Amino acid sequence: MSQADRSLTTKTLYELDGGHSVEAVVMRYADRSTLCISSQAGCPIGCPFCATGKFPFGRNLKAHEIVEQALDAVRMLAAEGRRLSHVVFMGMGEPMANYQSVIESVRRMSDADLLGISPRRIVVSTSGLIPRIAQLGEEKLPVTLAISLHAARDELRDVLVPINRKYPVAELVASSQAYAGKTGRRVSYEWVLLAGVNDTERDAKELGTLLRGKLAHVNLIPFNPVDGTPYRAPERAAVRRFREMVEAQSLNVTVRDTRGRDADAACGQLHERVMRERAAPVPTS
Ligand code: SF4
Repeated sequence: MSQADRSLTTKTLYELDGGHSVEAVVMRYADRSTLCISSQAGCPIGCPFCATGKFPFGRNLKAHEIVEQALDAVRMLAAEGRRLSHVVFMGMGEPMANYQSVIESVRRMSDADLLGISPRRIVVSTSGLIPRIAQLGEEKLPVTLAISLHAARDELRDVLVPINRKYPVAELVASSQAYAGKTGRRVSYEWVLLAGVNDTERDAKELGTLLRGKLAHVNLIPFNPVDGTPYRAPERAAVRRFREMVEAQSLNVTVRDTRGRDADAACGQLHERVMRERAAPVPTS
């Protein structure tokens, strides 16, 4: 099942054994094509702003189920004369909680005889499983590490990313910077901007204190509203203001393209809509 948004974004929902489903999103840009890939059906982390975290965890994907999402994207793009150039593990699931299959799939995707995608163009994200970050540093697989940070103080991050109660912010940044030191790869820190929650001057200053002088890049992602959560999307002006406040902290920062907003293109949302429709009562008249 696919859904296109002005032909720039294509979402595909995959039905898996055991009645589970996951989604993958192809995004086309002038200079590259990126696949956002899923590693688990559902997610055990349960971030309260996330569409995926609202449903019970299903299961880990096997390596071949992850690679098949990439093969599909390669075929779809080849038919348009395009090449899959980047893969980001930012779909459904916590990749580090399915470590072996994710690493195996990265090896297959980067194998020159298979898909030949450079590991440097593969982004593995995590909400902060510190032991797995250390393990990744030993793999000799220079993927880009992305940390789903969203808050720079434990008090707030404990709420937004519940695994923070086990692996707090300072330790997470130390472990991700150890990865940067080992691989020479700059770490991407992801920040979903939630109106009135983590878009204040205080947040920008705390972020500066946490990351200044580090091998770090901050990626701001304006929140894509999810039904049934109390969070709101920030106004454009608020996004611009927060970006400027973060820049003033001497950090590298970009705002992620939020294309596809109208077509459920945020992580987990096509799946969420399908699950909702399945759960809806069938009209009787
Ligand atoms: S934001 Fe990521 S880690 Fe958190 S529940 Fe959603 S998929 Fe899982």
